[in-house]
Amino acid sequence: MTASLLLQAVDFAATRHRMQRRKDSEHTPYINHPVAVARLLAVEGGMTDTEILIAAVLHDVLEDTDTQPAEIEDLFGSRILGLVLEVTDDKSLPKQQRKQIQVQKAASSSESARLVKLADKICNLRDMHDTPPADWSIERRREYYDWARAVVDNLGNVHVGLQRLFDEQYAKRP
Ligand code: NDP
Ligand code: ZN
Repeated sequence: MTASLLLQAVDFAATRHRMQRRKDSEHTPYINHPVAVARLLAVEGGMTDTEILIAAVLHDVLEDTDTQPAEIEDLFGSRILGLVLEVTDDKSLPKQQRKQIQVQKAASSSESARLVKLADKICNLRDMHDTPPADWSIERRREYYDWARAVVDNLGNVHVGLQRLFDEQYAKRP
């Protein structure tokens, strides 16, 4: 049951992100990112809570596609919807303000949402290092590393092993 719901989430996210690409020069399919976040939590973080893994797979569908919250609730339930909402920025706000709010919200999020947020930031720093956005200057990439650091610092002690992976990745700041 739980494995089939997880695969249903992968299928759902793949469909919703199907027209999107990451910002790297290889135009990597967007779905690679949420799958990588869930994989990181399960394989490198040892997480077995399927609802957290499903929330990781779905973590960008509200922010980056026209998916409605009710669709997630109907298919995956209210706990998963709650987690996805916790890691979703309010897109009606200007980008700079959204970034500040992410730093502030990190401190008060639920433990499960903080795990997803931490895994998201590790994966984004890995991407920023291995397959960076095509036209970003070093300065802009540095700003990104520092903002990710500020968010993760405010998450508190969520998971020692994942925290270490973040630090390893941050150490590669250009
Ligand atoms: P974003 O924060 O929107 O871009 C980073 C996000 O893109 C990541 O968090 C990730 O989000 C996603 N992403 C997609 N592909 C990749 C990839 N290959 N590697 C890493 N992340 C990827 O960038 P903004 O345009 O908002 O710029 C960030 C800040 O930089 C702004 O606050 C702005 O002030 C500043 N800026 C600086 C400039 C400069 O030259 N110094 C120029 C313009 C802006 P997800 O997980 O959600 O997919
Ligand atoms: Zn993400």
